[in-house]
Amino acid sequence: MATIKEVLEKKSELLCKGLFIDQELIDHYKKQGINIDFGRKGGAGPLGGRYFKFDSPSQEKPIIVNAALWDTRDRTDLILGKKVENKFNIYKKDKNHLWGKLKLIENPKYYSPEYKTSDGIPMRKIALVHGIDCLGTTIYQKCTHWECGNACAFCGIELSLKYDTTILEKTGKQIAEVITAARKEGRCTHLTITSGTEATEDKGALRYLKVLKEIKELHPNIPLHIQIEPLENLSYLKKLKDAGAATIGIHIEVLNDTLRKKITPGKYKIPYSLFEKNWKKSIEIFGRNQVESFILTGFEESEGNLIHNLEKLISIGVIPFVTPVRSIPGKSALPQTDYKSLIDIYLKVASLMKKYDVNPLKNKAGCVRCGGCSAISEAYRIV
Ligand code: SF4
Repeated sequence: MATIKEVLEKKSELLCKGLFIDQELIDHYKKQGINIDFGRKGGAGPLGGRYFKFDSPSQEKPIIVNAALWDTRDRTDLILGKKVENKFNIYKKDKNHLWGKLKLIENPKYYSPEYKTSDGIPMRKIALVHGIDCLGTTIYQKCTHWECGNACAFCGIELSLKYDTTILEKTGKQIAEVITAARKEGRCTHLTITSGTEATEDKGALRYLKVLKEIKELHPNIPLHIQIEPLENLSYLKKLKDAGAATIGIHIEVLNDTLRKKITPGKYKIPYSLFEKNWKKSIEIFGRNQVESFILTGFEESEGNLIHNLEKLISIGVIPFVTPVRSIPGKSALPQTDYKSLIDIYLKVASLMKKYDVNPLKNKAGCVRCGGCSAISEAYRIV
């Protein structure tokens, strides 16, 4: 059984590199009814990944990873090998060097085309299972920053429409029906709900309010996580909480101001001070450990600078959901984070969270609770 430190190291390496998978292996397993494709091509969270489970040292909660699957060896020296008993062998560089073993988390049954919502939409197009039991959905699949030609460099939100893997707008009723189906197979205990930003004063909050209420009518007790841009009108934050959101993500992604302008040109127009106002107000409303911001690594930032900026964020009480930026399949490659430096960042972030009394293990719903895309929680358990 691996120690938590070993799992942190392996998870960080997988998050940075992903896995190479041979098309022959995909075909081989397809014949056996095991579906290992290249993952999502668009939508919420890092793209193109599949979920794997570690031999976890903890009895409480399994440790999972969202690992990119690549069809070329350019981006990774980790290779997905054959399944032996119930785990896949992972090799480093070649088949003489076994790196570890991982269990593939199977897709839920409701992904089959015969599962449809009452208005006839395949359930798979409405919400996907992230990790083991987190349902992820994007309620509005367009974003004003794409329309204005100022999309974030790492974003794939509108690609899912292009690939016809989803629909433009989802209702709370459709999502609630998928929750019911996913719960029947034990695959939903909380949700991540995200959305593209709308070009209105509420930035999409009104859409969230409607969807949250509809979900809560059928599933009053399920914890819901929402993600939204900073709002000028802070009163929406309380309304979102009252409508049923348990946790909130207000994502800055890039902390260095010069890089932020380059990587997130549309969002850059929102001043850092407005992020701070929204984070602080959200902590008042949603409570401690219930407010997070995605932070992406890999954009040539010096580690010292990044940690300095992260301390500012953590000292407010925000959980930094640190994850290496991932290239979007079919688009130009984004920089790769060196996994050894990512481990170091995780350990420093964990120490800072302890220093400022921020605890990701107490988060109630969404990405921080799921933990597939970041190892902050594993690092937190070590320091
Ligand atoms: S952390 Fe989990 S819920 Fe969030 S994007 Fe990653 S896999 Fe999805």
